[in-house]
This record gives sequence, structure tokens and C-alpha cells, in this order.
Amino acid sequence: MERSFKAEVQSLSLGAGQSFHGEGILAVTKALLQSGVSYIGGYQGAPVSHLIDVLGDARDLLDQLGIHFESGASEAGAAAMLGASIHYPVRGAVTWKSTVGTNVASDALSNLASAGVRGGALIILGEDYGEGSSIIQERTHAFAMKSQIWLMDPRPNLTSIVDAVEHSFELSEASQTPVMLQLRIRACHVHGHFICKDNRAPAISSRHGIDLPLFDYARVNLPPSIYEHERQKVEQRWPAAVRFIREHRLNETFPGDLADIGLIVPGGLYNGVIRALQMLGLADAFGASQVPLHILNVVYPLVPEDLLAFCGGKRAVLLVEEGQPNYIEDAVQALLRRAGASTQLHGKDVFPLAGEYTGEVMLRGICAFLREARPAGFEADAAVARHDALIAARHRAIDALGVPVPNRPPGFCVGCPERPVFAAMKLLQEELGQIHVNADIGCHTFGTLPPFNVGSTVLGYGLGLASSSGVGPLLTQRTVSVMGDGGFWHNGFTTGVVNAVYNGQDSVLVILQNGYTSATGTQAIPSSPSQPVSRPLTLDIERALRGVGVQWIRKVPSYQVEDMRSTLREAMTTAAPGLKVIIADGECQLERQRRLKPQVAAALKRGERSLRTRFGIDEDVCTGDHSCIRLSGCPSLTIKPNPSALRTDPVATVNQGCVGCGLCGENAHAASLCPSFYKAEVVQNPTAWDRFLAGLRGAVIGWLAGRAATPEGVAA
Ligand code: SF4
Ligand code: SF4
Repeated sequence: MERSFKAEVQSLSLGAGQSFHGEGILAVTKALLQSGVSYIGGYQGAPVSHLIDVLGDARDLLDQLGIHFESGASEAGAAAMLGASIHYPVRGAVTWKSTVGTNVASDALSNLASAGVRGGALIILGEDYGEGSSIIQERTHAFAMKSQIWLMDPRPNLTSIVDAVEHSFELSEASQTPVMLQLRIRACHVHGHFICKDNRAPAISSRHGIDLPLFDYARVNLPPSIYEHERQKVEQRWPAAVRFIREHRLNETFPGDLADIGLIVPGGLYNGVIRALQMLGLADAFGASQVPLHILNVVYPLVPEDLLAFCGGKRAVLLVEEGQPNYIEDAVQALLRRAGASTQLHGKDVFPLAGEYTGEVMLRGICAFLREARPAGFEADAAVARHDALIAARHRAIDALGVPVPNRPPGFCVGCPERPVFAAMKLLQEELGQIHVNADIGCHTFGTLPPFNVGSTVLGYGLGLASSSGVGPLLTQRTVSVMGDGGFWHNGFTTGVVNAVYNGQDSVLVILQNGYTSATGTQAIPSSPSQPVSRPLTLDIERALRGVGVQWIRKVPSYQVEDMRSTLREAMTTAAPGLKVIIADGECQLERQRRLKPQVAAALKRGERSLRTRFGIDEDVCTGDHSCIRLSGCPSLTIKPNPSALRTDPVATVNQGCVGCGLCGENAHAASLCPSFYKAEVVQNPTAWDRFLAGLRGAVIGWLAGRAATPEGVAA
């Protein structure tokens, strides 16, 4: 796994009055234990993977408290766990990445929200919205509104986040409704501290079970219960939630000197707003703002009385709502107009309709509002001048650089086992022409980027093969679908493979078996080479495929580009009917290096011989056409100035980051590239025989080159 959480696990045992220091998402784990939760589930995904990882490492503590923890097969499975809270007074929490995970979970969530809950049900969501995000840009807010699940959005500091977790359970129980708690990327990774409470062992737990299972048809989602559920939602649960939020002051109001204006801010955006106000001279270093603020730590449902009270007597209010559609702004606008309030509401007229509210966007939007609103007792022009000076400083810095800062797009790691598979596909396309490739979610989505540009569509996690169902029969050539082993177990096996076999689809599936859900931090999946102690059983993809009747299966080591190309060619051209599956087998290089490096370091320390493979390029032979780079994209394969005075094109070079995966040699062979690549074996702690061989080789090379032999050390 990406990280060890031994230190964080210690913090989970802190008692009342002690101070917890750490990251936002880890504070949530402690808050869950303080809330008396009986069960926790989830599916890994940034930015909430660490919550699952740390709980996985804290099994002993969870067992002591009687808390059941399980990382699910998918977000849908995790969401379904919350069914435990429908009948029983038990608190449960699940987590995943939103909105993609919420899409997967939404069937279970709809049913859960309809039935209602007796015990507190909490869904902790990593709200992956903004320019650092890897997913489609949508908002969780839509799910909250359509299913009537309350949505918390706490201020990004540890005390607020922990309070929000604890309040979420109470709100859930008071309104018999599940609650979602969204944490943006910055909230997950914000560092700070909070004062702990004691952990609470739940009354009903894996140590103290339920003797009498309950049945209540009123909680089953069938007619007529579902009509009653809908009525309860609007007539009972919603008013109960609004009442709870008001009575417990979950939203916060901070007064300010500029009383004729105000800002309504979802809690998650509070830090960005305060920073912008500071830069405009409207807030001090401790966050005390001259502009009155109403903070929505609960963004759904809204509390009309609180909003009207805040807007009362104000000429203009700015609603800071990131993303689209502007649900909150529209709702507040309707509220004000229905109440006959004269307050002017601003929002998307001064902020962009779409996209992340970065520091600069926030500054620009608030400045535009001030320019428009002109609050009494404040020199708005001074704030505008500050803003203009800041922007001018930025432009001066850009001008001083002289050149634009290059984009740094994502890509495969150095030595990634998935890169050779896309190199093989690219080579095959030279023979067969353009192939329609159905891409999937995972590290392998980078295959759609240069230099490969392989993969025409991405429809969801594990849905690569399923997405071939429509387009495949319409093409004269077979399609290739890509799926990771994580995607295979998440969704791809049933939705893709079983469906393809059942419908007799004639297409090609490449399963990239790297051993983990690598993109989210290399968490274990059912077919991982090593499993956590709690899950000793390893499942096998090939056996699963055979079990559902796939006949044509080939397993090819990922790095063997020529073998991969010929196997792909066979799959594309064979007369064999049905689904053809190629398992590209190669462990995630990142995880491999994490595992190997400490072993090698320890062996070296013991004085043991160590052999490392590196690749290099003979700069005298390199023609400078860079076809090797266009076929690899490895960050370690780069360029440097041509040492020859007679040639101007830069030559290719392999830098120190090379992990010796072998792809350079494989590509050179498979694509018949120039003979400039060489493989070097770097020996550390050489034996006497190594020294003798190196000396001998050096002498022979020196003799051939007409110079003295080089000293020992490297056997080439
Ligand atoms: S994390 Fe692993 S699978 Fe993903 S790009 Fe890096 S090496 Fe490849
Ligand atoms: S051998 Fe080539 S592809 Fe592999 S890590 Fe080294 S430079 Fe990158």
C-alpha cells in the first residue's frame, strides 16, 4: 500500500482532552470512533482513500470496540451496508469518491433514503471537483436533492470537520434520513488539531450482537410503503431536519462592520473566502471579517428562517457557490423573492458559471461584488485597487519568466507495466489501421494521452467492455476494450464479461493485471498478489473468466511488447468466435519499487551483491528522430543537446530515474528502431569474479578502442 498508517493508528486511541494532530481525512476516522459507530465500509478513491487505509491498519482497535469494518467490492456494496441502520438503532458510516462513486451507489442510496433510517447513517464523500480532479465535473448536491439526503459541507478545519461528523449522526437520527458529508480535496488534506473525546464502544456491535432480527413492512420499498415514504420525506423528515439544524446552530453567522452587505458561503469554501477578504483588506490574520458571513455547514436542506434573518436589512448579498448548476443561489433567490425581501442577491453574475473557485477566481468574484454593491462606510475603490495590484504582480511574474510554464499532464509512472501494452497497440495499428479502443477508468486511462492516444471513450469504472456493446457490431473490425484488474472486480466482470459471453459478443478485451487499485494508492483487490491478514484468500481472474465460459484466454507478460503485439494481432484476426481476453500481467511498478527498494537497501547494508538493470542510449548512434520517445512516453526517456558539433537535433537520453523495466529494449526490438539502446547491469558489492570480469572487459574494450582500460566497477 502507498503509505503506512502506524502513527495515525496510535492517534485513534487518544482520550478525552488530548490533542489530535494530523490531516483532515484522518480526523474523520477519530470522529467516527467518538460517535459510537457500529460499522464502517467504503471503496477507495481520492481524496478519501486514507480513511479506508487507516481503518484497515487499525483493525485491532476496531475489534476491541466491536466495530465491523469492510472495504466493499464497489461503492454500491458499501452503500448497501447502510441497510443495517434502517431497522436497527446502529450508527454506520461509508465512504467513497464523489461524484463517480455516488453514481455507482445511487441505487442503494435512493432505496435507503426512501425507507429512512433509525440509526444514524453517514456517507463521507471526497468531493473531487476542481482543476486537480481526475473525474467528470459534477456536484454531489444533485444527489442530495433528488433522493433527499442531507448534505453537510463543514468549514475546512479539524474541529469543524469532527463536529460535523458527530452532528451528522444526530441529524440523521433526528430526521430518520441518511446524511452525506462532503469534503473537498483541500479539506481532506488540511492539517491542524482538535481536542479529542473518548472513543465510544457501540451498544450493538460485533461483540454484542442483535438477538432478535426485526421485520417491518413499512420500511420495505414496495407499494404502498414507498408512497408513505415520500409523504414522510416532505412532511416529517425534512421539517425535522430543518428544526435540528436551527436548534443546534449547525450553520454559523459571523457579524461584521459592513452591515449592509453580506456573504453566504458553503462551509467548504470558507477558507478561500477568508483568504480573499484578507487580501482585499477586509479580514485580519485570524479570520475576523468586516463583511458579515453566513456559513452553510449544511448546504441541503437550507434553513429559510436563518437565511432571511441574515439577509434582512442588507442591500446586497453575495452567494459563493462553486460549480454548476447554481442550486443554492436559485433556491435563495426564490426564498428572498417569495418573502418580498428587497435584498439584491449576487452569485454567478460575478463568479464564473463553471470551474473551481481558485484563490484568484475568489478574489476576482468578491472584488466584482464589492464594486457592484459599494457597501456603506467602506472605500470599495481601495479594495479594487488592491485586487488590481495583485493581478498586476502576477502578470509581472509571468513576464519575468519570459517563457510560459509548461503544462504537466498526468501520465504513467516510470517503468509502468501498462505503457508497453499501449506501445504494442500502437504498433499493431500500423498494421491493421485505426482500431476502436474502449477505454476504462484507472491508471490505464493515461493510454488516451500522448504519445499513445489509444482509447476513444471512457464510460465508467469497469465499463470498458460494456461500452463496446453498441459500437462493436457497427464496426467492420473487432473492437478492443481495456479494463484494469480493479475495474474487473468492481464492475467489469459482471457488467462487461458476463454480458459479453451471454450475448455472444465477438470482441477483444485486454485486462491490465497490475495487482492493485494503483491509481488510488495501491489498495488490495481480490486478485492482489498479497492480501491483508484479514483476507487471506486470493481470487484468480483467469479462473473467473473460465468459470463463466470464456474460451479464448491468453496471459502475456506486460513488458514483452512483441509477444503482446502478436497476441493482439491473433485476437483481432482469429476465426474463433466470442470474447477474446488477453491478460496483460505485470505488477504496478510503483508498488514493486516500494517493495524492492527497502529489500535492496538492506541487502546492500549486509554487504550482499546487488544487480540493477539500467538502459542507456549511445549518443553517437542516436539519429535524433525520437521515435523511441513517441513509442514509450516514459518520463525517464528524454532528450539532451546533441554532443556533435555537426548535428543540431537533440539526442534521446535515459536519465537517472530509469528503473530498468526493459521497455526501451523491447520497443527497439519490436519496432526495429535504431540500435542506439544498450542495457547496462550495475553491480553493487561486486564479488571477486565480478571484478575480474569487469577488468577483463575493460581491458578488451580499451584495447579495441586503442586506449587504456577503465577501472573496475561496472560490468557492461
Ligand atoms: S501507479 Fe502503477 S499502474 Fe499506475 S501508472 Fe504508476 S506504475 Fe503504472
Ligand atoms: S527502461 Fe526505458 S521505459 Fe523502462 S524505466 Fe528505463 S527509460 Fe523508462
